[in-house]
Amino acid sequence: DGRPDEDLLAGLNPPQREAVVYRGQALLIVAGAGSGKTRVLTHRIASLLRGREAWPSQILAITFTNKAAGEMRERVGQLVGQHAQGMWISTFHSACVRILRREAEQFGFTKSFTIYDSGDSRALLKRLVKDHEADAFGLTPGAVQSRISKLKNELSDAEGYARQANMSDPAERKFVEVFGDYQRALRKANAFDFDDLIGQTVYLFRAFPHIADVYRRRFRHILVDEYQDTNHAQYALIRELTRPIVGKAAEPYAAGGMMIFEPEQAPELPGASLTVVGDSDQSIYAFRGADIRNITEFERDYPGAKVVLLEQNYRSTQNILSAANAVIGHNFDRKDKRLWTDVGAGEKIVGFTGYSQHDEAQFVADEVEALRRTGIDYAQMAVFYRTNSQSRALEEIFIRSAVPYKIMGGTRFYERAEIKDALAYLTAVANPADEMALRRIVNRPKRGIGDVTVESIARYAAAQGLTFRDALGFGAEMGLGPKLQVAIGRLDAVLTEASELMLPASGELAPPSAVGDGLALLLAGSGYRDALRASRDAQDEARLENLDELVAVSREFARNNPEGTLLDFLTEVALVSDADGLDDESGTVSMMTLHTAKGLEYDAVFITGVEEDLIPHRISAGEPGGPAEERRLFYVGVTRARKRLYLTLAMTRAQFGEVSVAMPSRFLQEVPPELVDWRQSPGDVNSRGGTQSRALNARRPGGWGSRRTDDPPPLMPKSTSLERFANRIPAKVRDNGDMQLATGDRIRHDDFGEGRIDAVTGEGAKRIAHVRFDNGAVKKLLIKIAPIEKL
Ligand code: ATP
Ligand code: MG
Repeated sequence: DGRPDEDLLAGLNPPQREAVVYRGQALLIVAGAGSGKTRVLTHRIASLLRGREAWPSQILAITFTNKAAGEMRERVGQLVGQHAQGMWISTFHSACVRILRREAEQFGFTKSFTIYDSGDSRALLKRLVKDHEADAFGLTPGAVQSRISKLKNELSDAEGYARQANMSDPAERKFVEVFGDYQRALRKANAFDFDDLIGQTVYLFRAFPHIADVYRRRFRHILVDEYQDTNHAQYALIRELTRPIVGKAAEPYAAGGMMIFEPEQAPELPGASLTVVGDSDQSIYAFRGADIRNITEFERDYPGAKVVLLEQNYRSTQNILSAANAVIGHNFDRKDKRLWTDVGAGEKIVGFTGYSQHDEAQFVADEVEALRRTGIDYAQMAVFYRTNSQSRALEEIFIRSAVPYKIMGGTRFYERAEIKDALAYLTAVANPADEMALRRIVNRPKRGIGDVTVESIARYAAAQGLTFRDALGFGAEMGLGPKLQVAIGRLDAVLTEASELMLPASGELAPPSAVGDGLALLLAGSGYRDALRASRDAQDEARLENLDELVAVSREFARNNPEGTLLDFLTEVALVSDADGLDDESGTVSMMTLHTAKGLEYDAVFITGVEEDLIPHRISAGEPGGPAEERRLFYVGVTRARKRLYLTLAMTRAQFGEVSVAMPSRFLQEVPPELVDWRQSPGDVNSRGGTQSRALNARRPGGWGSRRTDDPPPLMPKSTSLERFANRIPAKVRDNGDMQLATGDRIRHDDFGEGRIDAVTGEGAKRIAHVRFDNGAVKKLLIKIAPIEKL
């Protein structure tokens, strides 16, 4: 009938449709896995845009990972075309970074603030715990970190906490001191940790209502996926954003015992419409402060909210769903919801028990190949595990069996020391106040600058009121020996040079190549690259490759974001999160933790290590609510599968260098036996007389069974999250050697085309060409590494 969104609604069932077209203030969609919640959000956005009910800029959609955000953006794009631009579809963290970059100056930060990931926070806390001798009170950096994180997720800050802490308890007093110092150090470094990104945005909105109003006016439609995993700070953020804007009328006054609001006092603008979707059975982040009450109490918080339930599952076969329903049914205190599907029973679930984790891994690898022969693509298969350390045995066997795979998650690439070093160099340039970054690089590569010298620099800086960065220029004044003066002077010089290259003079835009060129300059000029090159350690070769990849990533970033700055690049890198390595088009099996798997789907899913102590995990098993949360995690894993599900375990497992006997997970017993086809069950093994020692001695021909499981994998798997960049562009940094260029020469640049040299400055490896391109652009390029050729 010509409704603009007729085709949008065609692919939806009635309750889904109802959710898409509902136009009230608040909408809650609660439904089990695979029932189309994310699809409804996507279609709802498209419907708002198609009907011209909202500008793209009025939409704020929150997803759990950057990857999910990208997918949603793409889907909306397919539904509405070009109009999809200008929407904010992002994670909580990315959205808050964008807001904070704009507003940081309002409360004593600058917009070039650094984002500390959990490794950075940990490093800072390590120092503080040591300074305060807090470990004597049982305060390890890790414990302090998770406590601070929990407090921040509840929007409790250091001062607030101190006011109500029991200060007569010395351990508590220590904790308060460390927390306070940690916060001061962050502020001094012009940095936010991950939790601050959310908490400080809430603080900003509460402390500066006029700023909050700007965003309330802007975002008229707010949609949140995976709402069951929001924590209190995230909840509060959404609360702030959806408040009405109150008109500037006379104050209300009291009369006859009642507050009288004059008519103008009515909201000038009602709160934004809010749609949240979630599944309390998939709440798996309680350990990070996620609060399921955000969903169960939604109707109280948003009176008049409409609630839509979805029950038809479009993802999985009935056998898979029945298993999922049966397992989750063992959790108490939940609303029973029964998912159904009309796709039929499908294949049975396959169970397998290996003698060891290698045996288990070999089974997985063999089955992957068998599935592949039946026409399921590698990219449509996933292997899940509870803890990251389980991936190693799988990787080992996959490499030997030539099964292409990649590890999702883990910010693994970015956790590598050399990558963190390189990023610290960039951070030191972007945010000279960041003392942590400078401390990290001051002796990397080794320059003979030990702790004593670092403390001298810090003391000098404090005494003179300088930043650590500025103090590097005063080696002589500090009374350092001549060698140290030279070393510090060199570091100072390369940082200065890179700043000139990467940070535009006021008002100017740095050339797109600046980040890549600057990074290459830092790595070369600091001697970092040479130190790795000179090493005989085979790992250092891999480290060089990783650095090349990072340079390649920065160039790719510049290509995609021609106006992107150094800060934008650092922001993007800091926010790369768990699922962001995903890449469907490349034909590889995906390996990831169960946590990372949330929201995803695959034709075939292997859940490995279905053993007590792994799932449920040893640590959670003893905690209140722990086993129930582990069961939800298992449920998340099971419900990722479309057609084939494998549950595998091993009788013995080597972990932390010890071999121990494993027990089947209690969750296996919760799966109705008639749904499972055991290829080799724990029972079979026993009935064949497979005693423990026999299992331990089980060896396969070929000898892999005798490998010590704590040996490193035979190959260093290439980075994962960056592969797709690295595959597309040559990873090696160009080295133009001593290309001789003079004023008047003509060159061609990969990105800017042809141009003429106006001047050449600098010397040796640091010569810079000043180029006027035919398109009018004027750029400074580092000759040694710029993607240029002489014409
Ligand atoms: P999860 O809880 O795991 O996040 P979800 O509820 O968000 O799941 P979706 O990912 O939106 O579910 O949908 C699951 C699958 O079902 C997707 O492949 C989606 O395209 C498909 N689907 C959803 N609704 C329909 C429908 N009405 N018709 C056909 N396919 C559908
Ligand atoms: Mg979803």
